[in-house]
Amino acid sequence: MKKNIQNMDVKNKRIVLRVDYNVPIQNGQIMDDSKIKESLDTIQYLLAENCKIVILSHLGKIKSEEDKLKYTLEPVANHLKKLLNTEIYFTKDILSPDLVNRVLQLQPKEILMLENTRFADYPDRLESSNDAQLAMFWASLGDIFVNDAFGSLHRTHASNYGIAKYIPSCIGFLIQKEIFSLDKLIFNPKRPFVVVMGGAKVDDKIELIENLIEKCDFLLFGGGIANTCLKALYFNIGQSLASQNDNIIKRLQKIMLHNKDKIGLPLDAIVGSSYDESYVKYKTIDKIDENDIILDIGTKTLEKYKKYIENAKTIFINGTMGLYENIKFANGTKEFFDMISNTSAVTIVGGGDSASAVKNLGFASKFTYISSGGGATLKYLGTRNLPALEAILEEDSIETLDL
Ligand code: ADP
Ligand code: MG
Repeated sequence: MKKNIQNMDVKNKRIVLRVDYNVPIQNGQIMDDSKIKESLDTIQYLLAENCKIVILSHLGKIKSEEDKLKYTLEPVANHLKKLLNTEIYFTKDILSPDLVNRVLQLQPKEILMLENTRFADYPDRLESSNDAQLAMFWASLGDIFVNDAFGSLHRTHASNYGIAKYIPSCIGFLIQKEIFSLDKLIFNPKRPFVVVMGGAKVDDKIELIENLIEKCDFLLFGGGIANTCLKALYFNIGQSLASQNDNIIKRLQKIMLHNKDKIGLPLDAIVGSSYDESYVKYKTIDKIDENDIILDIGTKTLEKYKKYIENAKTIFINGTMGLYENIKFANGTKEFFDMISNTSAVTIVGGGDSASAVKNLGFASKFTYISSGGGATLKYLGTRNLPALEAILEEDSIETLDL
């Protein structure tokens, strides 16, 4: 594709590189550096092409001055320095004439990382509202814009969407890899293709479910999504997490009605209770009481799902089978991941918490592909529309920079 980085003439150019360094940081320590590592291919390519590189990324959400202390990118710059074994210049500046001068002084193969782009969100939400002046300013820092922030492609912010309007733009290697893997999954899966939908937020995932039910051979439900399905079928789910939105419930009813032979629902559960924190009980799904909270799947469900998993050639997983963060309710998710990792199927995990669950429970190396995108992955699989990607692919007339 002509908008891929390898098809652009980037040699000796000044590059504005947007990455996704929205990594978990505690007390200045980076808890998971996978997103940083995933950006290295593109950075190394640009270094080899003798580029001057200005790196942009967001981190967290900035709604106050205190957030700015919490979400500085400085620890990320230090970590990147170690990973690349090269100097990374870091500036607290994101918008000033001095910054332009600093960028103009960059030498080939030098990297300057700016502070968190979302610092422009307080007090005025300039980044998140795609402020045109801000996008133009950041565009003015480079000859070419390279977007490799796959995790932000569903956003229309100044630093990832806005810039692409003003200078020639292309996509980096991480975005190419992600899109290639997800396209293969959606358009050409080896069959049987089994989709597993669990986790919490059914309201955000209904489009994804509606899209995937058309493409897959079987869809197995777990977690809060399964609760909502059971509720939609008039089971008593007690105090369990479920959607309260009638429209979502109706859409789920329709999906279940039209795809009876494709859908798997839990037969049993591990429940907690709304009035006793230490209460943990095994129950079949037809025996849930008013005060019960379904927090994990049980062994009968695992047995049932095993039959689908064993025969699958492609498995896509989003969400967990239960509240896996609490050890009492982690078994279903753990056993399920174990079952999946023992098949020869192509296994793909999408979703922010799902990816963390796979890593935290020790299955990272057992899956074929863990998508780094969270919301972007789900949006792409649901609607195939990623605005910041479209901004690059469709960009044929570049507006002139007028600062
Ligand atoms: P992703 O971020 O990968 O799209 P979600 O955020 O939807 O996934 O799902 C993961 C979260 O769902 C986990 O934090 C987990 O605790 C929660 N979860 C799963 N099952 C239940 C349940 N039965 N009740 C409450 N929370 C649940
Ligand atoms: Mg989540």
